[in-house]
Amino acid sequence: TRFRHDYLEIRGLRVVFDGFVAVAGVDLTVTQGDLRFLIGPNGAGKTTIVDAITGLAPATGSIRFGGVELVGKASHKVARAGVGRTFQTASVFDELTVLQNLDIAAGAGRKARVMLRRRKGIPDAVEAALETVGLAHARDLPAGVLAHGQKQWLEIGMLLVQDARLLLLDEPVAGMSQAEREETGQLLQRIGAQRTVVVVEHDMEFLRSFASSVTVLHQGSVLSEGTVAQVQADPKVVEVYLGR
Ligand code: ADP
Repeated sequence: TRFRHDYLEIRGLRVVFDGFVAVAGVDLTVTQGDLRFLIGPNGAGKTTIVDAITGLAPATGSIRFGGVELVGKASHKVARAGVGRTFQTASVFDELTVLQNLDIAAGAGRKARVMLRRRKGIPDAVEAALETVGLAHARDLPAGVLAHGQKQWLEIGMLLVQDARLLLLDEPVAGMSQAEREETGQLLQRIGAQRTVVVVEHDMEFLRSFASSVTVLHQGSVLSEGTVAQVQADPKVVEVYLGR
């Protein structure tokens, strides 16, 4: 694969808001090709960790991706280091087509080259992303008419064409139908096999079909780590999820 050294290494990460410790010293290692789920009850600190990685929360400690330290870097520099994220609400341009959204994400600088390749019939990153996220048939539709799930897939496609090598996806299946969730599961498996992917998820049920590793957070700390089956059998996890 292209990026063999694309592992995420978080050490001693702390995020404090006005004296409130939202992330209390987290260690997390995610290797390329290892799709990792970050789960935990509301307020556990999952989104704050993603914010810290992307330069949107005040972090101390160390966050390295591919050997590059991200703590202290502004968001645009983190993006340039190959880190991309989605939010719970997809942010696509509704009035532009699926293809135009991807072209814009691919960057104006690369546009001319992309158009040339397309005219010659050579598949480019945009075409590849359309296939990967299953929107090839919808390429000329305005993004505004897409179903909720399709918008989420388009947003993931936009990260792919930006060449994000670390993808941070915040509750990608929230609000999706069962069919959309299954499609998304397959999409995550495909992307996760190639890139470094961290998925924030609230719903344990969605994880059941995955062989991936899971990190369970609780009150800003790592409570448990292992396979889906292992963390589900961990009494500490059972207590946090069911014991209230
Ligand atoms: P999760 O994603 O696991 O539901 P969050 O990371 O959103 O949890 O939040 C962790 C804790 O940090 C919560 O108690 C939340 O209220 C607090 N928090 C998050 N962002 C901020 C902020 N910008 N200012 C103050 N407190 C925050």
